[in-house]
Amino acid sequence: MADCKYYSFYALAKINDPELLYEAFQQQIAPGHADRIEIEVFAHSDDRWSRLTPSGSLEQKIDPAVLATLQQEFETDAQGRWYYDADLQGWFCSYRPLTTRHFVLLVKTVDPDKLIEEEYLQFLFHFYCHQLQMLQGTYRDALTGLYNRRAFNEKILQLLDQDNSHQRRAIDFSPTVFVMLDIDHFKQINDNKGHLFGDEVLLLLAQLMTDSFRENDLLFRYGGEEFALVLMDITPEQAQVSLERFRHKVAAHDFPSLERVTISIGFTLFDKRLGIDELISQADSALYHGKSTTRDTVHSYQQLVEQGLIPALKAPATPSIELF
Ligand code: GH3
Ligand code: MG
Ligand code: MG
Repeated sequence: MADCKYYSFYALAKINDPELLYEAFQQQIAPGHADRIEIEVFAHSDDRWSRLTPSGSLEQKIDPAVLATLQQEFETDAQGRWYYDADLQGWFCSYRPLTTRHFVLLVKTVDPDKLIEEEYLQFLFHFYCHQLQMLQGTYRDALTGLYNRRAFNEKILQLLDQDNSHQRRAIDFSPTVFVMLDIDHFKQINDNKGHLFGDEVLLLLAQLMTDSFRENDLLFRYGGEEFALVLMDITPEQAQVSLERFRHKVAAHDFPSLERVTISIGFTLFDKRLGIDELISQADSALYHGKSTTRDTVHSYQQLVEQGLIPALKAPATPSIELF
């Protein structure tokens, strides 16, 4: 088994997002070589391997032979490295970003008679790292590492587009709940403890979010101390429970200086007939109902409307009928 020897591979170890990695490979590299290259990404965390590709299919079964190799070769591996596995006819590339998870890429040629040369792999990784760094800069918030506002607009529009069945993402899982989350009295936290402390709270909250929600869920820093989430494949009742659990977790979290931090949350059904502004307005009106009452709350737009506590916003338009 050869140790990793390319600079570009070390650069890869700094990158902390398997989804971007997969996107970059598929969109930027694979189309040109679609007849040659297949890439899979596996992650190891909590003593368990999961398959992260295609995007969003966390629970996908891992081929037993591949799983055995992952367990034998990479479970206790502390370093990034790669090697060619003759039995499985693919390159295994392992890397550890600065998180608790450990990722392994499996790069194969569709035609097993045509081996991928190391030089070519080197090129792939070099290209890949470059793309990824660009993507990360464009779509990630620098402070929290969550998706930024630009990613928000693009991804929500993609998810709202009903004619996107050709898109991989839409096939794998479906968005069911849209959430807005805002830190309570954040201005006071800044005023009392300073802006840097405020920044740390934002970062810690983002980490709690990443740890608490599922791999498929989308987490955004929407603006200052506001966050947006899209929860996948969950009922409104489950969403309420999961968001309540998160609210409690934040309230109980030991932030530095023992400051108690609470959040208010509003959510609504991810109705694809809505426009992006309507979706935001619905979740926002549920959030601001919480702000205008007790704060430290979770409210559902649909429930508040049903209970007559807030007015209904514009109803979703019925699907338009084409006239010829
Ligand atoms: P509410 O409970 O009603 O949400 O009150 P609030 O104080 O959280 O809300 P408000 O909108 O009055 O204040 C938000 C504050 O967030 C004001 C702004 O200075 C601060 N803020 C926005 N972005 C950042 C940031 O990146 N870092 C820090 N430290 N503070 C920020
Ligand atoms: Mg606030
Ligand atoms: Mg706010």
